[in-house]
Order: sequence, then C-alpha cells, then structure tokens
Amino acid sequence: MILVTGGAGYIGSHMCRLLRERGLPHIAYDNLSKGHVESLPGTPLVCGDLHDTDLLTDVLLAHQVRAVVHFAASIEVGESVADPLAYAQNNIGGTISLLQAMRRAEVRDLVFSSTAAVYGNPDTTPIPEDHPKRPSSPYGFTKHAVETLIESSEAAYGLRAIRLRYFNASGASPEGDLGEAHNPETHLIPIVLQAALGQRESVAIFGSDYPTPDGTCVRDYVHVADLAEAHLLALDALTRGVTGAFNLGTGTGYSVREVIETCRQVTGHPIPCREAARRPGDPATLVASDTRAREILGWIPTRSDLEQLVADAWRWHQAHPMGYVAQEPVEAPGPAMRRSEINALKRSAAACFEAHGWTLPPDPKWDVTDFGLGDWRREGLVLVNLAEEPEYCEKLMYAQRGMVTPAHHHRRKKEDIVCRWGRLAIRCHAAGGGAVALRRNGSQTVVEPDQPFVLEAGERVTLVPGVVHAFWPESDECIIGEVSTQNDDVNDNVFEDPRIGRFPGILEDVV
Ligand code: UDP
Repeated sequence: MILVTGGAGYIGSHMCRLLRERGLPHIAYDNLSKGHVESLPGTPLVCGDLHDTDLLTDVLLAHQVRAVVHFAASIEVGESVADPLAYAQNNIGGTISLLQAMRRAEVRDLVFSSTAAVYGNPDTTPIPEDHPKRPSSPYGFTKHAVETLIESSEAAYGLRAIRLRYFNASGASPEGDLGEAHNPETHLIPIVLQAALGQRESVAIFGSDYPTPDGTCVRDYVHVADLAEAHLLALDALTRGVTGAFNLGTGTGYSVREVIETCRQVTGHPIPCREAARRPGDPATLVASDTRAREILGWIPTRSDLEQLVADAWRWHQAHPMGYVAQEPVEAPGPAMRRSEINALKRSAAACFEAHGWTLPPDPKWDVTDFGLGDWRREGLVLVNLAEEPEYCEKLMYAQRGMVTPAHHHRRKKEDIVCRWGRLAIRCHAAGGGAVALRRNGSQTVVEPDQPFVLEAGERVTLVPGVVHAFWPESDECIIGEVSTQNDDVNDNVFEDPRIGRFPGILEDVV
C-alpha cells in the first residue's frame, strides 16, 4: 500500500491516477485546503492534516503502508515571502510530523516532492543535482530544509528516500479530466490559457531585460503526467536501494515569450500580452540537467514537448474553465422548516426527555441542530431528528445534563448542514486548529476557526469530507438548523475538548 500525501493536489492527483491505472493499492491523504476531492475518483481518501501525527500513524498502520509519496505542501513563492512562518510550519513542521509517524509505524520508503527552487539563482545551466543550494525564497528554503532533514533521517533512522526536484510542472491529463486549478493562479501556462479563454484581458510578462535570448525568463517545462511516472520509477528504485536527489526536467528551456507564442499556436487565440516589472526572486534561467533521472531511474518524459504539454493543458482549461469547482452541482437551498415541523420536533424532544425521566429547562432556548450527534451548549437544546434517530436521544440527554457544550464534533466523512429556519451560526476548525474550506452553495469559502459562519434560512453548507475536524454551534447565535448526514458510523464521534475535564459525568455517560 502506498500513501500519497497531498493526493488531491495538482501533481498528487496525477500520481493517484497513475497508481489506479497500474492497479497499485494506494490511499490519498489530504486536508483539502487546496486540493480537490473531484480529482480523485476511485482513490480512497483519508481527510486529515499533516500535523495530525496520530492520525497519520493510524493510517500507516491500519493500511499497512510500505511507502509514502509526499506531495502535501504550500507551493507559492510570493505567499511564502509574505508569510514565511506559515510556510515553515506547513512544509517543515508538516513533514516532521509525517517523518515521526513513519518512524512510529516503521515505514521506511519515502519519495519527496522537492523543487528546482532549492538552487536559487544558478551558477551554471543546465543545473546538476550537486549544484550549491541557495534558495532565494522562503518556499525554496522550506523545501531545502526538508531535504536536509530527510537526509539526516536516512542516516539516523534508516529512512530510505528519493527527493525529486521538479522544474516547471505543467500540462494536464491527456484525457482532459485532471488539470491545474490553483486559486489564485500564478503559474504562466494556466494564466496564458485563461487569457486565451477571455478570462483575463492580457498576460503580464514579468521582466523583459533578463540576460536571455529574448530578455524573458527561461524555464524547463515538464508534463505533470511525466512527473507522476517519475515517482513510480522512484518507488521502484527505492526497493533496489537507490536513494538521493533527482532533477525532473527535460534539459530544454523556453522563454516566457516562447511559451506565449506556443499557446497562441495551439489555441488559435491572439492572447494579448504586456511587459511588466520583474517578479522578485525569479532567476533568469532554470533548466535541469536531467541525466541522473534518465540514467538511474530510467525516466523518459514522453509528453513534455512544449506543444503537446500546452495542448493537454488547453483541453483541460476549455473543458473546465472554472477549475474543479464548476463541476460541482450547485444545490438549490432547501425549503425553510415550517412552524408545525418545529413544534413537532419540540414535542418529540419533550417526549424523549420525559421517557428518560428528565425535565426540560423552564424556558429552553431551542436549537434544533442536528449534528449527527446531539451537540450541546448552555441552556440550549440540540435536537437531532429525534423521531427518526432514537439512538441519538441518549446522547442528547447526556448533553442536557452537562448544560454546556464540551463536545466538539468530529467527522471524517461527508455531511451537509442546512439551516432550515432562523439563523444558524457554527464554528469549526481543521485538525490542528486551522481554517477550513467549506462549500457553500457550490463555491468554496475559507472559514477561520475564530469566526462563526452564519447560515440563513434555506442555506446549505457542505462540509468537505474530513476537512472539518470539529464543529460546534456558536453559543450566541445558533438558533435552528439541521445536518443531513451521510455518515453511518456514529461512533466516529470523539469528545476531546479540553474543557471535558470539567464535566467528567458527561464523558463517562457518553463513553
Ligand atoms: N510569468 C510571467 N507572467 C505571469 C506568470 C509567470 O511572466 O503571469 C513568468 C515568471 O516570471 C517566470 C515564468 O513565467 O519567469 C514561469 O513562472 P511560473 O510561476 O509558472 O513558475 P516558476 O518558474 O516561478 O516556478
């Protein structure tokens, strides 16, 4: 079994597709902060965060994983300059967590997704793997730091690793169903193709006074399907005792102007462009020496010819002008709940209380929220569809006794929250406490843990599977709502809010 971290991302999803095609058992692990579930048809997905070492360990052990292909990382140079600590935390911290989990589970083989950005501004071109590493951005620094950590872990713990340094990953699946869908998009080829589609007025050429033949930056563009193939070869090479770093590029560079011209030819669109200032941190030329990957891994790129690569990308962009999001059916808001339905729910809750010998608070504030498991907060009543789900009543009772909501609700599967009446305010966080991405009426919204998101009557939010590690009602606003859950495993719920210590009775009852 192979674990693919970041499996729902651009390159990770191509890797998973290749593993599926070859019939190789694998699972994706992704927090879906950037990735797309839609890119993984047929691949089992564990939704989790890289920082969740326990979950990672569980997954490695439970699935008897023998090798990890580690793509999950933040990848934007500009973003890393703006927030270097976040980059270090995610890329370095996340990999430390993964390496720890691998140690615990005794998984030894690792293929790591690195980058040409570790070299910085090169002294020579094409760049050999032993070229000095002088990353010119925090992003490149994090990748270099991880490479160093991996090397130390090989020496210290018997890890066996191959580090693959991608040059400019581009293109889309030849079938046109998987492609590049970053938000915001910063990469040249998708930007040029968006201009061809009329989604952008023009393309800015970042710098036209570089010491290159036409003054624009030269890059080594490599097809994403070829990159996936290299990972498969790397997994195989590890079993032969091969380790170390490998460039993944073609050895041929193209300037920004040449790329734009190729896109014009492939698409038949004029694609207006304009000259703009240099983008900070861009080296003039980045071209790989690709001999090591060819000779040792036996890697032969077959789709990285620029015209072919752009043609594949163009097919994807035409079919998916809005990326993956537009493929989601946009759900119409459900009907608001009628008064009579609310009263019926209240009556059934009252009956349920009575059946358990409990009394309702004198003036209960009714929060008709179905969280699959009756989540609870002070003086409120969290009501699951009691009539249909009698087993939830018990949990509702326990919650009632506590008079506080000590429970976070944990989910790793899909569920929707529908506000059927009034307003529903919910807070949630990802594993590790970070922001989560939710689909709201068909488009993705990022919600910070300290900000409630409020649903008005009739609105629906899809909790992207596993992204939401925990959610709970916001005490001052939560009025009424309903979760329609497709989770058949109620035991999936875990109570682990630190405040639980103050309510041992609840914990005992629930456990
Ligand atoms: N580029 C550009 N205009 C854009 C985006 C990129 O001129 O709108 C240039 C960029 O400065 C670099 C090259 O295209 O020289 C490739 O950039 P990309 O972001 O695709 O990849 P990078 O080389 O930064 O990994």
